[in-house]
Amino acid sequence: METNKVRYIQTPVIEEPVWKKISVESDLPTDLEPLRVLSKNLWWVWNTEARELFRYVDAKIWEECEHNPIVLLDKVSYNQLKELTKDEEFLARMHRVYADFNAYLEARKELGGPEVAYFSMEYGLHDSLKIFSGGLGILAGDYLKEASDSKVNLVAVGLLYRYGYFKQTLNLHGEQMANYDAQQFTKIPVRPAIDKDGNWVTIEVEYPGRNLVAHVWQVNVGSVKLYLLDADHEGNSDQDRFVTHHLYGGDNENRLKQEMLLGLGGIKALKKLGYQSDIYHCNEGHAAFIGLERIMGLISEQGLTFAEAKEVVTASTVFTTHTPVPAGHDSFHNDMFRHYMNSFPEKLGLSWEEFDLLGKANPQEDHFNMSYLACNLSQGINGVSMLHGDVSKEVLKNLYKGYLVDELEIGYVTNGVHYPSWTAPEWKALHKKYFGNDFPGNQLDFDVWKNIYNAPDSEIWELRKTLRLKMINYIKQRFASNWIKRHENPKIITEVMGKLNPNVLTIGFARRFATYKRAHLLFRNLDRLARIVNNPERPVQFIFAGKAHPADKAGQDLIKNIVEVSKRPEFRGKILFVQNYDINLAKMLLQGVDVWMNTPTRPLEASGTSGEKGVMNGTLHFSVLDGWWVEGYRKNAGWALSAERSYDVQDFQDELDAETIYNILEEEVVPAFYNRNHEDVPEKWVGFVKNTISQVAPNFTTGRMIKDYQDRYYNPQFERSSKVNADGFKLAKELAAWKAYVSSKWDGIKVINQDMIEGFTNKLIMGREYPVYVKVDLNGLTAKEVGLELIITEEGENGGLEMFDAWEFEPEDCSNNICTYRYVVRPDHPGAFNYSFRLFPKNENLPHRQDFKYLKWL
Ligand SMILES: *Cc1c(COP(=O)(O)O)cnc(C)c1O
Repeated sequence: METNKVRYIQTPVIEEPVWKKISVESDLPTDLEPLRVLSKNLWWVWNTEARELFRYVDAKIWEECEHNPIVLLDKVSYNQLKELTKDEEFLARMHRVYADFNAYLEARKELGGPEVAYFSMEYGLHDSLKIFSGGLGILAGDYLKEASDSKVNLVAVGLLYRYGYFKQTLNLHGEQMANYDAQQFTKIPVRPAIDKDGNWVTIEVEYPGRNLVAHVWQVNVGSVKLYLLDADHEGNSDQDRFVTHHLYGGDNENRLKQEMLLGLGGIKALKKLGYQSDIYHCNEGHAAFIGLERIMGLISEQGLTFAEAKEVVTASTVFTTHTPVPAGHDSFHNDMFRHYMNSFPEKLGLSWEEFDLLGKANPQEDHFNMSYLACNLSQGINGVSMLHGDVSKEVLKNLYKGYLVDELEIGYVTNGVHYPSWTAPEWKALHKKYFGNDFPGNQLDFDVWKNIYNAPDSEIWELRKTLRLKMINYIKQRFASNWIKRHENPKIITEVMGKLNPNVLTIGFARRFATYKRAHLLFRNLDRLARIVNNPERPVQFIFAGKAHPADKAGQDLIKNIVEVSKRPEFRGKILFVQNYDINLAKMLLQGVDVWMNTPTRPLEASGTSGEKGVMNGTLHFSVLDGWWVEGYRKNAGWALSAERSYDVQDFQDELDAETIYNILEEEVVPAFYNRNHEDVPEKWVGFVKNTISQVAPNFTTGRMIKDYQDRYYNPQFERSSKVNADGFKLAKELAAWKAYVSSKWDGIKVINQDMIEGFTNKLIMGREYPVYVKVDLNGLTAKEVGLELIITEEGENGGLEMFDAWEFEPEDCSNNICTYRYVVRPDHPGAFNYSFRLFPKNENLPHRQDFKYLKWL
């Protein structure tokens, strides 16, 4: 056959491929279906057996996917999974864990107590769910886990961020790089929240000239449901889709948009999902708009007025503030605020000025403050440690003119940590051995923890050594791969790896790099530090970690500085900065280091929680007496830097504190660690560990914390709010009417004759009696409605006046609006005091004085 000789072939025109998305869910053999179920509820995060189960599936992939079981099940080959179905031991384990899981959920089907709706901007539940940045989020995450464990009827609301918070890498110079990776929602344990009819729930929030649409997602945290709002919805403009892209990213305007979504949208989402919660918990001021949305609902659905609805909402809201400085409270400039909120007063039946005052202490202020809004709409207000409760009174006092700071109804609940999440499996086993099998279910019985004294010193010391070794190995691995990636000099890498020593006293310092945390303190005297770490018999090594906010240049400079110091020859392998502080690194450090150090400027650490995670693991705490450590510190259970501030000038204070730290390290910490008995056990050290576990740790669990919230806030407020709501909001209406009436009369109240205050001179003698009379024209109010009291104050430590005593007068002889009040003063303390009289509105249905902020000083 003749063929033409091929002479030339034309280059074809080929189009670019058009890729279409297809996703293949791994085909789990049916026998392994329980694994899939377990992977989709975060319960596994704090269940040691469940974690071990996933690790067993494939330990290598488990590490590579950073402990994400959904990714794990996707990545493991089908053949490997097939093999597992023949592995009897594995199947038995899986069924045991699955049965535990189902029994756990079953025991939480019927929950008593008020239903609490909890709102937070961030939740730290697991590294794979990037909706947290630091302490506030981790706390909220721990709280949800504990609510599930403690059988609290709680539902939570937050935002689902496409990019979350940033991942930190450092370049060769120690400069922080912020990387944002998009979360793939199919690879994290979120799923669409579905309403009764099987539809994916969306909500809308009014923005100027448009509505923002958001998807609602659901995360299962044991028995607790967390709903997350996601504005990345095709119905929004590009700019609005961006609203939930980053946590604490964007400008203040985006923050306002996020907070509108969280507060206003959060309430709408709960409503659509059929929730009717009893108590609303606003975690930090970010979510304060929940109060407005609820008031609008009560107005439109129940026909209440603003004042009546406010009674209902206030009675059932708890506000927790976490910030110890005024500048830390979110606020929005008037112009921007009005641009976004202009239509809201009308829905509330208020004028703009009335509405605006909900977020101000003075009408002239140029920002609307979210914490003020939260205070104005919450009966219960609390700080997050004993000291921070007092600090919060100072910070918020402008809202309560006329009251002494120490009489403000701002309480505290000290933050805690979730024991099962933060305690090493090795410790959990040891605790069970000595505390009994009911532990940690009975963790609130503090006596149980004392059984730690029954454990032999050597057993505890061996455990501590094991955990230190594990931590050092983890750090080496994490550190080396980071350093290789950034082309660090191989000689230095080898040197550092060689010097890091699992038998050396190891001190950890990791947290957000804000300047008040004073990470630089240790580096004030480098010569002295070099002597400490390089002591040939008794060396010390430090491990640092932490992120600085991308906009915080000073914080980033601190990191850079530490990295530079760590590269000097005398500090190589002695001081290490490990990048990208996350939950897993926090866990490894807190379980493995010997001492956890914290050196904040007092009183700027509202609570702090990382040290609490440490004490669960017998990691000794060495800190300034600030935040939780004020309550936690016990003699022979860690070390404390004195509470007193000696210098006004921060630099002098830093110098003094640094010297104190070096001294304590050299004279106390190092000797306690290295003085060993004949079994090579440091008895004193182990004694400190035992004291820490028995006397410190039990007070700082989320178990204790959630109980405090129930006792101090949820239960009492539920009781009162049930009364306020009963019979068609009868009491709410009465209270609102009464407050309106009293306020209309208040300015007309007059003291008839100031010098009628008879018999009360400025020099009294102890033990004698001084009858005092005051005559008041009540302007139509009755003596039942207006109280009179004599307030005695004395100079406080900081120059302010503190309440010394308050005596309430008895009304006697009321006629024609004029009442005479009487009290017999019997001084029983010598000293110099101040006194003044004041009138206040009285009503047994008020929860506390500042619920109705009327006062008249005479
Ligand atoms: C616990 C924790 C924090 C908060 O630590 P503080 O002591 O409150 O500063 C921050 N980040 C991570 C990853 C944590 O685990």
